[in-house]
Amino acid sequence: MRTFGCQMNVHDSERISGLLDEAGYLPVEAGATPDLVVFNTCAVRENADNKLYGNLGHLKPVKDANPGMQIAVGGCLAQKDQGLIVAKAPYVDVVFGTHNVGSLPVLLERARVENEAQVELLESLEVFPSTLPARRESTYSAWVSISVGCDNTCTFCIVPSLRGKEEDRRPGDVLAEVEVLVAQGVLEVTLLGQNVNSYGRSFGDREAFGKLLRAAGRTGLERIRFTSPHPRDFTDDVITAMAETPAVCPSLHMPLQSGSDDVLRRMRRSYRSERFLGILDRVRAQIPDAAITTDIIVGFPGETDEDFQRTLDVVAASRFAGAFTFQYSTRPGTPAADYPDQVPPAVVAERYQRLVALQEQISYEQMQGLVGRTVEVLLSQGEGRKDGPDQMTGRARDNRLVHLPRIDGARPGDVVTVEVTGAAPHYLRALQGPVRRTRAGDAWEAGTRPSTPGVNLGMPRIGAPA
Ligand code: SF4
Repeated sequence: MRTFGCQMNVHDSERISGLLDEAGYLPVEAGATPDLVVFNTCAVRENADNKLYGNLGHLKPVKDANPGMQIAVGGCLAQKDQGLIVAKAPYVDVVFGTHNVGSLPVLLERARVENEAQVELLESLEVFPSTLPARRESTYSAWVSISVGCDNTCTFCIVPSLRGKEEDRRPGDVLAEVEVLVAQGVLEVTLLGQNVNSYGRSFGDREAFGKLLRAAGRTGLERIRFTSPHPRDFTDDVITAMAETPAVCPSLHMPLQSGSDDVLRRMRRSYRSERFLGILDRVRAQIPDAAITTDIIVGFPGETDEDFQRTLDVVAASRFAGAFTFQYSTRPGTPAADYPDQVPPAVVAERYQRLVALQEQISYEQMQGLVGRTVEVLLSQGEGRKDGPDQMTGRARDNRLVHLPRIDGARPGDVVTVEVTGAAPHYLRALQGPVRRTRAGDAWEAGTRPSTPGVNLGMPRIGAPA
């Protein structure tokens, strides 16, 4: 299973793994040649195509040497390229899309029996991926999707054309899944949606997301996170729900994309910098220690020096804990790809360096402000490049990365309370502290591969014909 792209793809890959488990597949042993390779692809950036076709090219000789091997391609790039994938790589057996994840096992069988590539994609959702069984990567944290698709039309984004219009899961389905996870010992859940703040619009409840946070906070979960919010729909009831629900972590990822109102208008982001800064002020008024991160695109078509200076000004005023920064790249099929005034790559790269330098300084100053604090860390697996006999890594409640000396007997999934002793722009250093061993830690130690049954309360899908 190779997964590219966003958390939504990671979530879907866990469902694909759950489906394959049920169909009798087992994860391949390290170093062995798999009978099946599945690519769950991303289509957000131009490089995404190169990544897939490059990987497929490397796989051809392996498949030639193992004719029984099957190759399947799913996800956003499959939804975009469809039959083109088989035209470019005729040794691919199955192409499936973002709307029919559940059909993979059947398509694999059909390809084997008919000895012919199967290309099957739908234009709208078949079933919510959350109704499918999942094989989760982690014993202590889980992704729970609350909606799929997006009703926005940001001009640089291809997601709406590949994942369709927004469809919301019923709150009851979401909470049922959260309760199953809590019963399995999961401590942390991340609620997923392309735009979590418009959750509930389809069933006429504009405050549904705030209510969902409060309800999830009553399930026994220790940590609740969510992504992605949208500044246009981010309402005060959500801020109050975050502040009044102890399980909701004081971390917020709020994509800004640009500080220039002209650029935001051309991106069709439906908010302006004043509103964005106002939200941050209201969040900090109720949650003073909130760690706020963001996404920023540099070099959007038509971006002038003045526009970019506005971005630097808003970043300086926002005091983000961190930022994912991107150099704009044209994405065929998006309106912005045909905009005039594409910014020269050298100009984009120069601006990008200036933005990164500014944010790096701000992140570092923010981290330094935490030295001497006592923080609670959920130990994780695989997040620290230097993790090993001497070091462990985990996440504080504000989602900051914390490295600490290895503690005998402590496992990923356990919770440790530590004192912060040092800071770097992207992580904190801490001393050892008391460990709270958890069931998630026990499951990790036992080598359990956590699975979650698909949750489907059988209620008709919102908006689907009854
Ligand atoms: S909100 Fe905009 S950027 Fe995000 S998924 Fe929707 S269209 Fe894309």
